[in-house]
Amino acid sequence: MKSLLIFSFFLLCFTSSTSGTPLDIDSQDADTELVKKYLDKYYSPDVDDGEILQFKNQDDVSMTEKLKEMQRFFGLQETGKADAETLAVMKKPRCGVPDLQPFILTEGNLKWPRNNITYRIVNYTPDLQKSEVDQAIQKAFSVWSKASTLTFKRLSSGVADIMISFKRGDHGDNSPFYGPNEILAHAFPPGDRDGGDIHFDEDELWTMKGRNLFLVAAHEIGHSLGLAHSNDQGALMYPTYSYIEPHLFQLPQDDINGIQTIYGKTDTPAKGPQTPNACDPHLSFDAVATLRGETIFFKGRYFWRKHPEFSVEFYFISHFWPQLSSGIQAAYENFYKDQMYFFKGNKYWVLNDFNLLPGYPQPIYRLGFPKYVKKIDAAFSDLQSGKTYFFVGDKFWRYDEIKQSMDIGYPQKIAQHFKGIGPKIDAAIYENGYIYFFKGAKVVQFDLNSSRVVPPTRRSNSFLNC
Ligand SMILES: [Zn+2]
Ligand SMILES: [Zn+2]
Repeated sequence: MKSLLIFSFFLLCFTSSTSGTPLDIDSQDADTELVKKYLDKYYSPDVDDGEILQFKNQDDVSMTEKLKEMQRFFGLQETGKADAETLAVMKKPRCGVPDLQPFILTEGNLKWPRNNITYRIVNYTPDLQKSEVDQAIQKAFSVWSKASTLTFKRLSSGVADIMISFKRGDHGDNSPFYGPNEILAHAFPPGDRDGGDIHFDEDELWTMKGRNLFLVAAHEIGHSLGLAHSNDQGALMYPTYSYIEPHLFQLPQDDINGIQTIYGKTDTPAKGPQTPNACDPHLSFDAVATLRGETIFFKGRYFWRKHPEFSVEFYFISHFWPQLSSGIQAAYENFYKDQMYFFKGNKYWVLNDFNLLPGYPQPIYRLGFPKYVKKIDAAFSDLQSGKTYFFVGDKFWRYDEIKQSMDIGYPQKIAQHFKGIGPKIDAAIYENGYIYFFKGAKVVQFDLNSSRVVPPTRRSNSFLNC
C-alpha cells in the first residue's frame, strides 16, 4: 500500500503545476525550507575531509548550482529551480548519507584492511520479531558476501567492525533523524570507532513489506563497506528508497562493479541485472501502453513513465505492482473502462486507477485465445472502433471491447492487414490516430485509416526524449 500512496503523491504533483513552469524558490516558503535543508545535507560535503569533492569553496556555490548538481545526480532536467519534479524527488524517503562523495572512496583509505568483517546487532526495533531482524540483517550481508571476497561474522557481544542499532531523533552523531518517511537510515564509511556503523531510524515502522528492513540494511551495508551513492537508478546504492519484493532481489551490476573495484573480483564472476539506459541507441521495449494521457514503457524489471509536460521518470515495476515485478510482454489501455491490461505468458492482469484488480491473473483463454497461444507479443486498443488488436508471432487477433468477445475470423496475418510491418512486434500503442509498432530499436508509424506506414521510421528511445 505504501507504494500506492507514493504514486498518488506523484499524481498530485503532476496536476498541481499544469503550467509546467518551474516554481520560484522565494515564493514557496515551506518548499524553500525543504530545498535548503536538502541541499545543505546532501549536497554540501565537508571540504576538510580532503576527498576529491566537487565543491571546493562553499561560499562560491549558489543554491542554483547545488540544485543543478542534485538534478544531474537524479537524472532530472537541470533547471537550477525547485520545480515540481525536483521537489517530488526531495520528498521521497531516502538514506541520510550525502550524495556528493566520490563514487568510490579513496583507495587504501576508507576500506576495510581485511576481508573478514564482524558485525553486531546492538539493539532491536519493537516493530519486528528479533528473529526477523536477525534474518533481514544476515540476508543483507549475504548480498555483499556473494558479490565480493568479503566474509561477515556476527558477534553477540563486544565491539564489532559494524555496530548496528536503531536510534531516533538527534542521537549524538551530528546526523539527526527527522521522524518517519524522511531519512530511513545512515551508515559510516569503514574506519575505527563509529566507522562502518549503521543506524536505522526507530521512528520508521520497520516491516517485512513496505519499509523493508532487509532492503534498507543491504543499502547501508554498502556504505559500511566503502561505497558511496550511485546515480544508476536501478542500483541498490541509489539514494532514494524503492520497494522490491525481497525474494526477487538481485544485486544490480552497478553495485557488483562498485564492491569489486574496492575489494577485488570473486573467483566465479558475479552477474547482476543491468539498469537499462534510456538513451542507449539499441534500446527496445517489452511492452508499451498509454495510460490517461501518459505513456508507460516496460523493460525487464523497470518502466519509464512519460507525461506530456514532464520529463521521463523511471521506476521498478515491483515498486508499484509487486505481483508483476518483471517481464511484462504486452500491455494496453482500455479506454472504455479506464483500465490497463498487462500480459505475461498465458496470463493477464487488469489495473484500474493504478491498482491491480483482485481476482487476477486470469488465463488469456478467457479472452478467447486458443490454447496453443502461450504468450502475447503486443497489444493496442483502437479508441474509435473499440477494437483491441493482439499480436502473436506473424498473426493477430481482434477483440471487441463492447461485446467483450473475440471477433470471428481471426487470427489473420499481420503482413496482410498491416502492410510493411512484418512479424515479431515487441510493443504497440494507439496515439493521436496512429499506431506505433515497436520492433527492436525501431518504431514504425502506421495510419489505421489509410492502412499505410507513415515514414520516417524512428528510434524507439526517441519516445523517451533521447
Ligand atoms: Zn545511502
Ligand atoms: Zn546516526
